[in-house]
Amino acid sequence: MPDIIQLLPDHIANQIAAGEVIQRPASAVKELLENAVDAGATDIQLIINDAGKQLIQVIDNGVGMSETDARMAFERHATSKIKAIDDLFRIKTMGFRGEALASIAAVAQVEVKTKKATDTSGTLIEIENSIVTKQEPVAAANGTSIAMKNLFFNVPARRNFLKSNAAEMRHIADEFIRVSMAYPEIFFSLTANGQELFHLEKGTLKQRIVQLLGNQYNAKLVAVDEQTDYMNIFGFIGKPETAKKTRGDQYFFVNKRFIKSAYLNHAVAGAFQEMIASDSFPAYVLFIDLDPSQVDINVHPTKQEIKFEDEKIIYAFVQSAVKHALAQFSITPTLDFDLDPSIQHLDAVSKPFTAEQKSQASSSSLYQTFTQKHAAHKIDPQQKSELKHWKESVVSNESLAGSQQFESKSVQSSFTHQQQPTISETDFTQLHQTYILASTNKGMLLIHQQNAHERVLYEKYLSAADGKAIATQRSLFPSTLQLSPQDAILLQELTTDLHQLGYHIEPFGKDTFVIQGTPADVDQGNESRAIELLLEQFKHYTSDLKFSKREKLIRSLAKQHSIKPGRLLTQKEMKQLVDDLFNCTQPNATSNGFPTYMELKKEELEKMFGR
Ligand code: ADP
Ligand code: MG
Repeated sequence: MPDIIQLLPDHIANQIAAGEVIQRPASAVKELLENAVDAGATDIQLIINDAGKQLIQVIDNGVGMSETDARMAFERHATSKIKAIDDLFRIKTMGFRGEALASIAAVAQVEVKTKKATDTSGTLIEIENSIVTKQEPVAAANGTSIAMKNLFFNVPARRNFLKSNAAEMRHIADEFIRVSMAYPEIFFSLTANGQELFHLEKGTLKQRIVQLLGNQYNAKLVAVDEQTDYMNIFGFIGKPETAKKTRGDQYFFVNKRFIKSAYLNHAVAGAFQEMIASDSFPAYVLFIDLDPSQVDINVHPTKQEIKFEDEKIIYAFVQSAVKHALAQFSITPTLDFDLDPSIQHLDAVSKPFTAEQKSQASSSSLYQTFTQKHAAHKIDPQQKSELKHWKESVVSNESLAGSQQFESKSVQSSFTHQQQPTISETDFTQLHQTYILASTNKGMLLIHQQNAHERVLYEKYLSAADGKAIATQRSLFPSTLQLSPQDAILLQELTTDLHQLGYHIEPFGKDTFVIQGTPADVDQGNESRAIELLLEQFKHYTSDLKFSKREKLIRSLAKQHSIKPGRLLTQKEMKQLVDDLFNCTQPNATSNGFPTYMELKKEELEKMFGR
């Protein structure tokens, strides 16, 4: 028998290796866009024909390549981004494996034109099947243009695996959005079959988000921004009312690299709890910057999943930051002024860690605590007090000290309570029988009486539904209630939950009920009307919101029983309402996400009056 093992020819080995990096046109798009960003371009154009099957071209105005570099770039393991293994842990660019261009050259016909600003002429190189077929000087603009034609022309099996043009184009648009979202300071365009689909002028992150995700987010984004020695988080979350039924507008970036993380997504969703329906998805575009040595981006070939040195701290940090932002949005009347370009964090984006910041950070003992492996479980009680000072104690002490599970409640309350103004005990003023004006140590509050009361009742009913039932007063003369057949079915379904909330209702023949008791605060004699209104309100929560029955019931009750505008309140009632509001776990908004109060700070007032 002859020996049977052979070395694969280069072009076949290259094609196999390429399969890991370039699975579909969108993978090539991602690599080319990232290279353009790494090359320092400020203007990047993506041109697609036939969903990338026929042409993918990226034109940038970045640093360009010398003739030798342009040739080298297509060799496997050719990269300018790392020189030694240690560099892997400091990497701040998008690429580093030196595989993308080699892979592209193995599975397409490639044409490169590139020129450095310092060179007088540029270079043209054509490659097919990993073999250079042409190399010559050309007149070219500064920067690089890479066109790849007929993807997988030499790997028919792969070409046949490609999906419909519509599907492949969707993947391409996804990648385009993920890269361009992270770099609002770069102009991007996407042209498909001669039609410009995106034209993204340079601007702020907020503008970029609206350009990419749509105008419905205009004026509906809340800034997130927390900085610590250990990490920074910034970006925007959609106000609760923008939450969608389908998971969609959710973007996480770590050191500007798009990542998928069910774990961090869970952290954000947790922060929105009680503000949106449990089965809807909040919108967010969040950037986490941390020392590159704290993440391992190298675990997945397409680099969308990453490992953090300590996930739990990041989880708590993200959740707290989002809660903080949610707590702020309703109390900052000039929110949109905060988002003007001068206050955008482009600087923080482009330089996540200055050398000075970094040395300061690493010399703090806190940083050292965090950088120990699994530090979260090692922090001993003496260190707790120090942790408190860690940027407004974003992480609850308990969760750091021991429990594996993060207690979202404790993180939340440590936040909301800190945000709360101290309200002076003296006069409250009611305006238009709708608003309560209160002065605080920091300025003044304008509280919407109905929204505030809705929040108070919502939390009260919520805890009653899960635990101790609300006290019932038995009616002396139980009234009967005659309903339409549909309403009767509805009420029948709700009786158990209603019982927990203080309503005792029993069926009494066809479509008829007897009201035996109501919560203590419902006026005697009005019981039937109260139930009818409740059913009306309940039906108002359209089924497409998909709240649970109980959630709808609680929301309906809170709305129905809340103090309405037009009701005159005594000093005592106003004080009670304001106290109750600030005892809520989430005092800043109604369950539907409407603000309960606004805060006007002293400084803002003084500024308005030119002081
Ligand atoms: P990596 O990005 O991991 O280094 P690539 O195969 O994507 O590997 O690119 C190889 C090298 O080619 C890069 O390190 C860079 O030096 C150079 N290069 C690629 N694209 C461009 C570009 N658009 N402009 C300038 N240089 C580029
Ligand atoms: Mg690259």
